[in-house]
Amino acid sequence: MKSKEIRSTFFEFFKSKQHAIVPSAPMVIKDDPTLMFTNAGMVQFKEFFLGNSTPKNPRVADTQKCLRVSGKHNDLEEVGMDTYHHTMFEMLGNWSFGDYFKEKAIAWSWELLTDVYGIEKDKLYVTIFEGDDSEGLERDTEAYNFWKQHIAEDRILNGDKKDNFWEMGEQGPCGPCSEIHVDLRSEEEKAKVPGIDLVNADHPQVVEIWNLVFMQFNRKANGNLEPLPAKHVDTGMGFERLCMVLQDKKSNYDTDVFTPLIREIEAITNTKYEEDEEKNIAIRVVADHVRAVAFSIADGQLPSNTGAGYVIRRILRRAIRYGFTFLDKKEPFIYKLTDTLVKQMGDTFSELVSEKNLITNVIREEEQSFLRTLDQGLILLENVISNATTKTISGKKAFELYDTYGFPIDLTALILRERGFHLNEKEFEAELQKQKDRSRAATKVETGDWVVLQEDDVEEFVGYDSLETTVKITRYRKV
Ligand code: ATP
Ligand code: MG
Ligand code: MG
Ligand code: MG
Repeated sequence: MKSKEIRSTFFEFFKSKQHAIVPSAPMVIKDDPTLMFTNAGMVQFKEFFLGNSTPKNPRVADTQKCLRVSGKHNDLEEVGMDTYHHTMFEMLGNWSFGDYFKEKAIAWSWELLTDVYGIEKDKLYVTIFEGDDSEGLERDTEAYNFWKQHIAEDRILNGDKKDNFWEMGEQGPCGPCSEIHVDLRSEEEKAKVPGIDLVNADHPQVVEIWNLVFMQFNRKANGNLEPLPAKHVDTGMGFERLCMVLQDKKSNYDTDVFTPLIREIEAITNTKYEEDEEKNIAIRVVADHVRAVAFSIADGQLPSNTGAGYVIRRILRRAIRYGFTFLDKKEPFIYKLTDTLVKQMGDTFSELVSEKNLITNVIREEEQSFLRTLDQGLILLENVISNATTKTISGKKAFELYDTYGFPIDLTALILRERGFHLNEKEFEAELQKQKDRSRAATKVETGDWVVLQEDDVEEFVGYDSLETTVKITRYRKV
């Protein structure tokens, strides 16, 4: 089954179960102080869960563009290293807003995977929430009993709060969850590590594919859980992982979601995927990161020096450096992948088609500008490494790389890790703070034709949490 058919089959299935198919929300979030990027399908439905607004249809399904590079869900370090975590990925999901609950969610997920997609039952196993005493949360025996109707009991495993209590972020709707995993190991591989109790055990052929979350609570800013006004279902299935299973591949990158990009990278860089592990990682990183960056630009978020824009810049610079060091690309090349990406995904995400020129131009300019200093920065870093007397590198050097050569701190840390060193991040933070203080002081004196009138301590009401806060307000007058 081609990926397009896998996606449309998901929609057809849930349509047949009276779900409305809705579009993906933007990947970049503009108006939520708690979240920069959509990291799961449920984000656009948060207000329904909280009871602040009412959905037109109590059952919906969609594919959601997600990005997991910051905050509670940050997979950046895994990307490229493993074969199933991406920065940007599609999450297929079905929802019930106060409508069906555990029984139907479980039965339908099983029906879709085994009857419709035809995954062999003995390749699947599931987990349920074992409970958590510290928060007074009970074991999800309800889910256990529904699963029992479909799957042998020895394939239902307990999971702890980390894996089986899903939370979007530090606050917001959350609840116990039940996850479906596949074990695609060959008999020979299985003999090496017997048993199915391998949940998230870093075996690339044993992966989680679908998470069924039973939304029951809201995590408040003070950390307390309060019950939601109604119970809901929120599910998320990794589309690329599902394609891997259904296309009988060992890696997401071997599915038709990624192979056109990989072939193009091979052609542009004159390399071959799967010949050398360092190059493999670099190729996977580039194939992954171009998607994150392109989708972000299509949402209107360009690379910049602050906030979400800086996250995107960091991702792109990471890809540029992988290309530079391991694929020997000293010239811009990532922008050339836009064509292939748009061909591959433009049918489902039309914003890629309409913003194709912008995406191409922005990526090319970013590549050009970073490549101007990358070489010099790497030489400097090389010197630092060869002169190092300990395995910890000074944050001052990292700051120079950041400030003068445009190296995001996580990139410097990554390169050092590759070489067996690590970075004194505290020192870096201190340097950064010093710079901020310097520039703050500078803006004070460099107000140009504005003069300082007076500095007041003003009592301002900032919000209920902070009550009164004293803020210093500097008043200026134009001269
Ligand atoms: P994992 O344990 O593999 O990191 P997760 O438990 O963090 O996954 P969920 O938050 O439960 O993931 O998200 C629902 C589904 O989305 C997962 O079951 C998985 O199929 C998919 N998924 C999660 N993170 C990624 C990612 N970084 N890249 C691709 N797919 C992902
Ligand atoms: Mg994860
Ligand atoms: Mg997990
Ligand atoms: Mg999960």
